[in-house]
Amino acid sequence: MQVLKTKHLGFCFGVRRAINIVLREAEQSGKKIYTIGPIIHNPQMVKDLKEKGIVPVDNVYQIDDGIVVFRTHGIKKDEEAYIKNKGLPIIDTTCPFVKRVRKRAIFLKKNGYKVVIVGDKNHPEVKSVLSYLDNDGIVLQLPTSIKEKKIGVVSQTTQDKETFFNIVRGLIEGVEELRVYNTICHSTEIRQDEAAILASKVDLMLIVGGKNSSNTAKLYNVVKRVQQNSYHIETEKDIMPGWFSGINKIGITGGASTPDHILDIVERRVKNL
Ligand code: SF4
Repeated sequence: MQVLKTKHLGFCFGVRRAINIVLREAEQSGKKIYTIGPIIHNPQMVKDLKEKGIVPVDNVYQIDDGIVVFRTHGIKKDEEAYIKNKGLPIIDTTCPFVKRVRKRAIFLKKNGYKVVIVGDKNHPEVKSVLSYLDNDGIVLQLPTSIKEKKIGVVSQTTQDKETFFNIVRGLIEGVEELRVYNTICHSTEIRQDEAAILASKVDLMLIVGGKNSSNTAKLYNVVKRVQQNSYHIETEKDIMPGWFSGINKIGITGGASTPDHILDIVERRVKNL
Protein backbone atom coordinates (compact mmCIF):
# COMPACT_ATOMS: atom_id res chain seq x y z
CA MET A 1 0.00 0.00 0.00
CA GLN A 2 1.17 3.50 -0.80
CA VAL A 3 0.80 6.12 1.94
CA LEU A 4 0.60 9.81 1.00
CA LYS A 5 0.32 12.85 3.27
CA THR A 6 -0.71 16.44 2.74
CA LYS A 7 2.17 18.95 2.88
CA HIS A 8 0.51 20.91 5.70
CA LEU A 9 -0.85 18.83 8.56
CA GLY A 10 -0.73 18.92 12.33
CA PHE A 11 -0.09 21.99 14.45
CA CYS A 12 -0.89 25.28 12.75
CA PHE A 13 1.01 28.48 13.45
CA GLY A 14 -1.39 29.58 16.23
CA VAL A 15 -1.40 26.29 18.12
CA ARG A 16 2.39 25.80 17.88
CA ARG A 17 2.92 29.35 19.15
CA ALA A 18 0.50 28.85 22.09
CA ILE A 19 2.00 25.53 23.16
CA ASN A 20 5.56 26.90 23.00
CA ILE A 21 4.68 29.99 25.06
CA VAL A 22 2.88 27.96 27.72
CA LEU A 23 5.55 25.25 27.97
CA ARG A 24 8.28 27.88 28.33
CA GLU A 25 6.32 29.64 31.08
CA ALA A 26 5.66 26.34 32.92
CA GLU A 27 9.38 25.55 32.86
CA GLN A 28 10.56 29.00 33.94
CA SER A 29 7.94 30.05 36.51
CA GLY A 30 7.31 26.71 38.22
CA LYS A 31 3.81 28.06 38.99
CA LYS A 32 0.48 26.37 38.34
CA ILE A 33 -0.89 27.42 34.96
CA TYR A 34 -4.62 27.42 34.24
CA THR A 35 -6.15 27.47 30.79
CA ILE A 36 -9.78 28.43 30.42
CA GLY A 37 -11.07 25.30 28.73
CA PRO A 38 -8.54 23.07 26.95
CA ILE A 39 -5.75 25.12 25.36
CA ILE A 40 -6.27 23.12 22.17
CA HIS A 41 -8.89 20.58 21.18
CA ASN A 42 -6.76 17.47 21.42
CA PRO A 43 -7.35 15.19 24.44
CA GLN A 44 -3.93 13.47 24.20
CA MET A 45 -2.05 16.79 24.16
CA VAL A 46 -4.15 18.20 27.01
CA LYS A 47 -3.30 15.10 29.08
CA ASP A 48 0.44 15.58 28.40
CA LEU A 49 0.22 19.25 29.40
CA LYS A 50 -1.61 18.41 32.64
CA GLU A 51 1.39 16.33 33.68
CA LYS A 52 3.51 19.49 33.26
CA GLY A 53 1.21 21.53 35.54
CA ILE A 54 -0.88 23.14 32.79
CA VAL A 55 -4.45 22.49 33.84
CA PRO A 56 -7.70 23.30 32.00
CA VAL A 57 -10.57 24.68 34.11
CA ASP A 58 -14.15 24.92 32.89
CA ASN A 59 -15.22 27.72 35.16
CA VAL A 60 -13.02 30.79 35.07
CA TYR A 61 -14.58 32.07 38.32
CA GLN A 62 -12.94 29.16 40.19
CA ILE A 63 -9.44 30.51 39.50
CA ASP A 64 -7.86 32.22 42.50
CA ASP A 65 -4.13 31.81 41.96
CA GLY A 66 -1.47 30.84 39.43
CA ILE A 67 -1.07 32.11 35.88
CA VAL A 68 -4.07 32.28 33.56
CA VAL A 69 -3.81 31.45 29.88
CA PHE A 70 -6.18 32.91 27.29
CA ARG A 71 -6.33 30.08 24.79
CA THR A 72 -5.84 30.23 21.02
CA HIS A 73 -9.51 30.67 20.17
CA GLY A 74 -10.12 33.36 22.75
CA ILE A 75 -12.21 33.78 25.88
CA LYS A 76 -15.36 35.74 26.63
CA LYS A 77 -15.30 39.46 27.41
CA ASP A 78 -16.69 39.00 30.97
CA GLU A 79 -14.14 36.23 31.68
CA GLU A 80 -11.32 38.49 30.55
CA ALA A 81 -12.62 41.33 32.75
CA TYR A 82 -12.85 38.99 35.76
CA ILE A 83 -9.25 37.78 35.45
CA LYS A 84 -7.95 41.31 34.90
CA ASN A 85 -9.86 42.60 37.96
CA LYS A 86 -8.38 39.80 40.07
CA GLY A 87 -4.92 41.00 39.07
CA LEU A 88 -3.74 37.50 38.17
CA PRO A 89 -0.81 37.19 35.72
CA ILE A 90 -2.07 36.54 32.19
CA ILE A 91 -0.56 34.85 29.17
CA ASP A 92 -2.59 35.75 26.12
CA THR A 93 -2.12 33.09 23.44
CA THR A 94 -5.20 34.15 21.46
CA CYS A 95 -4.26 33.58 17.83
CA PRO A 96 -3.84 36.80 15.82
CA PHE A 97 -6.28 35.40 13.24
CA VAL A 98 -8.94 35.04 15.95
CA LYS A 99 -8.27 38.60 17.10
CA ARG A 100 -8.82 39.70 13.51
CA VAL A 101 -12.33 38.14 13.51
CA ARG A 102 -13.13 39.97 16.73
CA LYS A 103 -11.76 43.26 15.38
CA ARG A 104 -13.74 43.01 12.14
CA ALA A 105 -16.95 42.07 13.98
CA ILE A 106 -16.63 45.03 16.38
CA PHE A 107 -15.93 47.35 13.43
CA LEU A 108 -19.05 46.14 11.63
CA LYS A 109 -21.24 46.60 14.69
CA LYS A 110 -19.89 50.11 15.29
CA ASN A 111 -20.72 50.99 11.71
CA GLY A 112 -24.36 49.98 11.96
CA TYR A 113 -24.25 46.49 10.45
CA LYS A 114 -26.15 43.57 11.95
CA VAL A 115 -23.27 41.17 12.48
CA VAL A 116 -23.54 37.59 11.23
CA ILE A 117 -20.89 35.10 12.36
CA VAL A 118 -20.73 32.01 10.17
CA GLY A 119 -19.76 29.21 12.52
CA ASP A 120 -20.75 26.92 15.33
CA LYS A 121 -22.60 28.70 18.15
CA ASN A 122 -21.16 26.28 20.71
CA HIS A 123 -17.53 26.81 19.68
CA PRO A 124 -15.43 28.91 22.12
CA GLU A 125 -14.24 31.21 19.35
CA VAL A 126 -17.77 32.07 18.26
CA LYS A 127 -18.89 32.54 21.87
CA SER A 128 -15.90 34.82 22.41
CA VAL A 129 -16.56 36.98 19.34
CA LEU A 130 -20.27 37.22 20.20
CA SER A 131 -19.45 38.33 23.75
CA TYR A 132 -17.39 41.25 22.39
CA LEU A 133 -20.54 42.29 20.47
CA ASP A 134 -22.46 42.17 23.79
CA ASN A 135 -24.25 39.17 22.28
CA ASP A 136 -25.80 41.41 19.62
CA GLY A 137 -25.07 39.19 16.62
CA ILE A 138 -26.47 36.24 14.69
CA VAL A 139 -24.64 32.91 14.35
CA LEU A 140 -25.41 30.92 11.20
CA GLN A 141 -24.44 27.38 10.30
CA LEU A 142 -26.84 27.00 7.37
CA PRO A 143 -27.90 29.27 4.48
CA THR A 144 -30.88 31.48 5.27
CA SER A 145 -32.09 34.95 4.34
CA ILE A 146 -32.39 37.69 6.94
CA LYS A 147 -34.43 40.88 6.49
CA GLU A 148 -32.04 43.66 7.49
CA LYS A 149 -30.87 46.89 5.88
CA LYS A 150 -27.17 46.33 6.51
CA ILE A 151 -25.55 42.99 7.26
CA GLY A 152 -21.86 42.47 8.00
CA VAL A 153 -20.45 38.95 7.86
CA VAL A 154 -17.39 37.32 9.41
CA SER A 155 -16.53 33.64 9.64
CA GLN A 156 -15.17 31.42 12.37
CA THR A 157 -11.49 30.94 11.53
CA THR A 158 -11.90 27.19 11.03
CA GLN A 159 -15.05 27.40 8.90
CA ASP A 160 -15.10 25.42 5.67
CA LYS A 161 -15.13 27.65 2.60
CA GLU A 162 -18.03 26.03 0.77
CA THR A 163 -20.43 26.48 3.69
CA PHE A 164 -19.23 30.06 4.19
CA PHE A 165 -19.82 30.99 0.54
CA ASN A 166 -23.25 29.28 0.50
CA ILE A 167 -24.34 31.23 3.57
CA VAL A 168 -23.10 34.52 2.08
CA ARG A 169 -25.03 33.75 -1.13
CA GLY A 170 -28.19 33.10 0.91
CA LEU A 171 -27.87 36.43 2.71
CA ILE A 172 -27.75 38.52 -0.49
CA GLU A 173 -31.51 37.95 -1.04
CA GLY A 174 -33.00 39.79 1.92
CA VAL A 175 -30.57 42.62 2.39
CA GLU A 176 -29.91 46.09 1.04
CA GLU A 177 -26.20 46.18 1.87
CA LEU A 178 -23.94 43.23 2.54
CA ARG A 179 -20.35 43.58 3.72
CA VAL A 180 -18.33 40.37 3.94
CA TYR A 181 -15.01 39.64 5.60
CA ASN A 182 -13.67 36.19 4.82
CA THR A 183 -11.88 35.57 8.12
CA ILE A 184 -11.19 31.88 7.58
CA CYS A 185 -7.56 31.56 8.59
CA HIS A 186 -4.89 30.75 6.05
CA SER A 187 -3.81 27.56 7.87
CA THR A 188 -7.37 26.23 7.75
CA GLU A 189 -7.82 27.13 4.10
CA ILE A 190 -4.54 25.57 2.98
CA ARG A 191 -5.22 22.37 4.95
CA GLN A 192 -8.72 22.02 3.46
CA ASP A 193 -7.53 22.65 -0.12
CA GLU A 194 -4.62 20.20 0.13
CA ALA A 195 -6.78 17.55 1.83
CA ALA A 196 -9.46 17.75 -0.89
CA ILE A 197 -6.80 17.36 -3.63
CA LEU A 198 -5.20 14.39 -1.88
CA ALA A 199 -8.61 12.80 -1.26
CA SER A 200 -9.27 12.81 -5.02
CA LYS A 201 -6.06 10.81 -5.65
CA VAL A 202 -6.34 8.03 -3.05
CA ASP A 203 -8.70 5.14 -2.21
CA LEU A 204 -9.03 5.95 1.48
CA MET A 205 -8.40 8.98 3.66
CA LEU A 206 -7.56 9.15 7.35
CA ILE A 207 -8.19 12.49 9.06
CA VAL A 208 -6.37 12.56 12.38
CA GLY A 209 -7.46 14.82 15.24
CA GLY A 210 -9.46 15.25 18.42
CA LYS A 211 -13.13 14.31 18.19
CA ASN A 212 -13.78 17.65 19.93
CA SER A 213 -11.71 19.58 17.39
CA SER A 214 -13.84 21.81 15.19
CA ASN A 215 -11.14 22.28 12.56
CA THR A 216 -10.62 18.50 12.29
CA ALA A 217 -14.38 17.90 11.99
CA LYS A 218 -14.59 20.49 9.20
CA LEU A 219 -11.53 18.99 7.48
CA TYR A 220 -13.28 15.61 7.62
CA ASN A 221 -16.43 17.12 6.03
CA VAL A 222 -14.38 18.68 3.22
CA VAL A 223 -12.58 15.37 2.54
CA LYS A 224 -15.76 13.28 2.77
CA ARG A 225 -17.34 15.32 -0.04
CA VAL A 226 -14.52 14.14 -2.32
CA GLN A 227 -13.71 10.69 -0.90
CA GLN A 228 -16.57 8.70 0.69
CA ASN A 229 -14.05 6.25 2.06
CA SER A 230 -12.78 8.58 4.80
CA TYR A 231 -12.37 8.12 8.54
CA HIS A 232 -11.89 10.64 11.34
CA ILE A 233 -9.59 9.03 13.91
CA GLU A 234 -8.11 10.41 17.11
CA THR A 235 -5.16 8.01 17.41
CA GLU A 236 -3.79 4.84 15.79
CA LYS A 237 -5.99 2.84 18.19
CA ASP A 238 -9.09 3.81 16.17
CA ILE A 239 -7.75 2.19 13.00
CA MET A 240 -9.65 -0.95 11.88
CA PRO A 241 -7.63 -3.30 9.65
CA GLY A 242 -10.87 -4.25 7.83
CA TRP A 243 -11.03 -0.75 6.26
CA PHE A 244 -8.00 -1.50 4.09
CA SER A 245 -8.97 -4.59 2.11
CA GLY A 246 -8.60 -3.89 -1.63
CA ILE A 247 -7.07 -0.45 -0.91
CA ASN A 248 -3.90 0.60 -2.75
CA LYS A 249 -3.42 4.25 -1.88
CA ILE A 250 -4.03 5.82 1.52
CA GLY A 251 -4.03 9.54 2.25
CA ILE A 252 -3.31 10.98 5.69
CA THR A 253 -3.99 14.47 6.93
CA GLY A 254 -4.45 15.99 10.38
CA GLY A 255 -6.21 18.90 12.03
CA ALA A 256 -4.45 22.04 13.19
CA SER A 257 -4.44 20.79 16.79
CA THR A 258 -3.02 17.32 16.12
CA PRO A 259 0.49 16.75 17.54
CA ASP A 260 3.20 15.52 15.13
CA HIS A 261 3.96 12.42 17.21
CA ILE A 262 0.36 11.17 16.87
CA LEU A 263 0.52 11.66 13.09
CA ASP A 264 3.84 9.77 12.98
CA ILE A 265 2.41 6.83 14.95
CA VAL A 266 -0.65 6.68 12.67
CA GLU A 267 1.59 6.66 9.60
CA ARG A 268 3.77 3.86 11.02
CA ARG A 269 0.70 1.81 11.97
CA VAL A 270 -0.77 2.11 8.47
CA LYS A 271 2.54 1.17 6.85
CA ASN A 272 2.72 -1.95 9.02
CA LEU A 273 -0.79 -3.22 8.34
S1 SF4 B 1 -6.50 27.24 13.13
FE1 SF4 B 1 -5.95 29.29 12.37
S2 SF4 B 1 -6.99 30.67 13.76
FE2 SF4 B 1 -6.94 28.69 14.77
S3 SF4 B 1 -5.09 28.74 16.00
FE3 SF4 B 1 -4.54 27.84 14.04
S4 SF4 B 1 -3.75 29.55 12.80
FE4 SF4 B 1 -4.91 30.41 14.52
